[in-house]
Amino acid sequence: MFAEIALRNSLFEPFTYRVPEHLKSVLKEGFAVYVPVRRQVQVGFVTSLSEKNSSGVSEERLRDIIDIFPLNPVFDRNMFQLLMWASDYYIEPPGSMLFSAVPSGIFKLSNFKVRLNYEDSREEVIGLSRLFKKKGNYKISMLDLFRRLSDGTAQLFVEEADRDQGSVVELSGEVDEEEIRRVSEKYPVIDEILEYLRLKRVLPLYEVLSMLRDKRILRYLYKSNIIRIKSGDLRASSYAVEEGRVIELNEEQLNALKSIERIRESGFGVHYLYGVTGSGKTEIYLRAAKGVLNSGKSVLFLVPEIGLTPQSIYRIRSSLMCDVAVLHSGLYEKERIQEYLRIKNGEVKVVVGARSAIFAPLRNVGMIVVDEEHDTAYKQEESPRYNGRDMAIKRGQIEGCVVVLGSATPSIQSIYSIKTGKFSESRLTIRANNKPLPEIDIVSLSRSKAEDDDVEGLPFYISDELYRALIDTINNNNKAILMLNRRGFNTFILCTSCGYVFKCPDCDIHLVYHRQREMLLCHYCGYNQRLPDICPNCSSLSISKFGFGTEQVEETIKRLIPSSRTVRLDRDSVSNMYDLENAISRFSKGDANILIGTQMVAKGHHFPDVTLVGVILADMSLSVPDFRVQERLLQLLMQVAGRAGRGSESGKVIIQTFNPFEPAIVATKSGNMDEYASIELVRRKNLFYPPFSRIILIRSRSEDAKKAEEVLMIFKNALSGLKRSEVLGPVKSPIERIKKEFRYQLLIKTVEINRVRNTLKNLIPDVYKLHHKVRVSIDVDPLNML
Ligand code: ADP
Ligand code: ZN
Ligand code: ZN
Repeated sequence: MFAEIALRNSLFEPFTYRVPEHLKSVLKEGFAVYVPVRRQVQVGFVTSLSEKNSSGVSEERLRDIIDIFPLNPVFDRNMFQLLMWASDYYIEPPGSMLFSAVPSGIFKLSNFKVRLNYEDSREEVIGLSRLFKKKGNYKISMLDLFRRLSDGTAQLFVEEADRDQGSVVELSGEVDEEEIRRVSEKYPVIDEILEYLRLKRVLPLYEVLSMLRDKRILRYLYKSNIIRIKSGDLRASSYAVEEGRVIELNEEQLNALKSIERIRESGFGVHYLYGVTGSGKTEIYLRAAKGVLNSGKSVLFLVPEIGLTPQSIYRIRSSLMCDVAVLHSGLYEKERIQEYLRIKNGEVKVVVGARSAIFAPLRNVGMIVVDEEHDTAYKQEESPRYNGRDMAIKRGQIEGCVVVLGSATPSIQSIYSIKTGKFSESRLTIRANNKPLPEIDIVSLSRSKAEDDDVEGLPFYISDELYRALIDTINNNNKAILMLNRRGFNTFILCTSCGYVFKCPDCDIHLVYHRQREMLLCHYCGYNQRLPDICPNCSSLSISKFGFGTEQVEETIKRLIPSSRTVRLDRDSVSNMYDLENAISRFSKGDANILIGTQMVAKGHHFPDVTLVGVILADMSLSVPDFRVQERLLQLLMQVAGRAGRGSESGKVIIQTFNPFEPAIVATKSGNMDEYASIELVRRKNLFYPPFSRIILIRSRSEDAKKAEEVLMIFKNALSGLKRSEVLGPVKSPIERIKKEFRYQLLIKTVEINRVRNTLKNLIPDVYKLHHKVRVSIDVDPLNML
């Protein structure tokens, strides 16, 4: 018997090994095994088993699999199928795909302890690595252990984490308010935790940890004697229901819930919840989840990492009244493994996590929810470049369960899937609290500035309207958020008289200005032109280069409005989570009344007293060379607009732009994506962009620019003659150089995705071999075109 084994490397071809006698009846696809690789032992995954040796190497020269990894199957059939599909779909070597789906450290025996139950009901606990070192004494083989783990006469656990299992946290009672204030200034997330502790009195330690995300804070609280940690398993009692709050669903919500349940009963299907923020989408996910749990199945919730707030986790836990595994990027290796084991052993039936939670080893999945479906955070921008949302749909198909996608600003891709009947849809049009949506004003920056009541001394990027609204807001003791959606590029070119921006005539992509050469360049097809002095649209001489940022806006505001107290939020002013929490808490506590920042200000936070949101220059993100910029801009504008008027007073949004008729900007007024989507879909169709084609972006980088370009030519030539396809490039990437390496890219648009995929797969091994100094990456369904 022979097994194909995928190793942790970037090869597409698996290695063939002989299956030794003692493993023949146990091994299955998706199992992890130890194999010899040159003079080492490595872990690999069985990708196929066969009686025939089809490796092309004679049987005598093949080597034997050494042993089985005890914790198997690492992937059950469904998960294995999903990962092999992903490997194929994303043109990702199987080994790389499979290894990225398990927590790191899972193959490190020293991470585990094992409890062995003997027939005479004796128990023994020993470190896994010691178990095998002491072969003589224990007489247990990997295969024995595998069998015992399978039949329940042995259990694996993670030592350190296990100690926390029974511990609970409570307030010490000797709370020094001054000290708490001091601590929570440093770590504002503490306020929330303390609030829950006051409400519940105790919380399991691991829950507090997963809310705090960082052991250091816990230690801090403990050392400052704010909390006490003691033993006692109070899991169940900590899920007391929210104080007597029974929510009655409105009609729209009931219909949505019914639709989801109908699909759930029949098997696989994708349902889209399109509802404005606050319309009760989460409420519906939770109701549907209850039904799933009652039927004995499990639930997977995907949220963008930024959505994994203590609040949201707490809401899920208390609403479902059960234990929830939270998978976020802040987990330590052992914690991650522990969560993995809890999920795998069926101890938890609800998993909440960011995109990689799609790999959670949940069994018997009854529903997968992808909240904020449009969020680009679902796409992994490094290998493997999968999209968690799309994988969720595939997983749902394999598991035969319902997949619920939700957003207030659906992606064009999803709108198309709804229109073509691939997804069913429910709409939620009213906010659950009946608050009206904020009023949105689109202010043109390019109109002539010579009216009598004009405020003097304002720079072009602060309109009279915005200035006056800011003054009003501050005078009324309310707060404002100003956003400058600067992204990627510092310099962008625009006619300040008519708003004209330069686009590639073939790709409809914004041209990027290259300072050294005074050229405008298309980063898809290479089209270029000189930067003219005269605007091609209105013949004025008002073509301007902009390169201003949030810092400048902040200074201007301080100067113009001396009574303002500003706080800035961008990557320069905050470099970690605590800076971020700090800036946010300064603003929410009222130390500052104007929050100025990049798109970071648009997400996540709830500030009830913000009544004004100003977008300084909406056009700014339009200069990014990406065919999805308009779609993203609309989503961003809607999101930031949603920050206004969440409290008792209604909100106002001012969007400043040189392109007041840009459909993506106009659409923010109604908040309805439909009209915009129909315009955008026509544009996409004409230009052969997704969803009317599939795209693959091949990037290369090398210290040798010529080589980097040559490699892409090989791909291009191999794809020539392909029907219903376009191959654009190779061109320099918008970010031409990173460190010492030159970057090039080739864009493939096609409807023959399988042919392209096969061609690429056949080519890759040779290309890698011949051009090992060039690094090539393949991005299927890329979201980031830079
Ligand atoms: P979304 O996920 O769409 O932003 P949520 O589900 O978070 O909306 O709902 C917003 C708020 O309204 C929450 O506080 C929620 O508890 C509340 N809510 C949702 N549905 C109802 C309802 N039918 N009646 C009263 N309150 C509701
Ligand atoms: Zn012009
Ligand atoms: Zn072009």
